[in-house]
Amino acid sequence: MSPSSGTSLRVALLGGSFNPPHVGHLMAAHYVRATQEVDEVWLMPTFRHPFGKVSAPFEHRVRMCERMCEDAAGWLKTSPVEREVGKDGRTVDTLDFLQARHPGHRFSLVIGSDILKDLPHWKDFERIQRLARVVVLYRAGYPAPGTVGPPLAEVSSTDIRERLARGEPPTDLVPQVVLAYAREHHLYAF
Ligand code: ATP
Repeated sequence: MSPSSGTSLRVALLGGSFNPPHVGHLMAAHYVRATQEVDEVWLMPTFRHPFGKVSAPFEHRVRMCERMCEDAAGWLKTSPVEREVGKDGRTVDTLDFLQARHPGHRFSLVIGSDILKDLPHWKDFERIQRLARVVVLYRAGYPAPGTVGPPLAEVSSTDIRERLARGEPPTDLVPQVVLAYAREHHLYAF
């Protein structure tokens, strides 16, 4: 994605491992675009996971996200910005970086309700809330106060990796173009 520093957009950021991206991410992005008054949704794969989670290589996760965005009419994009931010993968640093690069944009930060338990460990959450509107989606199985919308799909990258490891291609949970990429590049021993 090429940065557009002169424009002013309302951008919702969906950060995560995307290891691999799945229909739950896609539904979350569509839901946010449809209901949260945003112009674009940017998928932001983690470069360095703040809590040390190990994933497929960053470049492959970026490519898989890009594949998933291809069908959306320009509003769904993949941002590899976390590689540029460097540091240790803290969301507050990414938001500072993005705000400096796109001073006209207004950012929202989208998280699933499964993440709420981690928030006390996030660096400077108060500053995050000043830099971005935080939108908490109701991820199926994780009810919590303050979420928006109905429960979203019960699907996770963990389940998908487990299915792949058992030799069961998760064709119902991963966009075809993403699964084809994973197969082509022998990700997840697939
Ligand atoms: P893993 O199983 O490897 O932990 P994951 O499926 O939770 O992965 P991530 O890439 O870590 O996917 O998630 C990125 C963001 O998308 C997080 O904020 C997460 O809460 C949200 N998210 C992922 N799947 C869903 C879903 N099915 N419904 C709603 N939100 C989701």
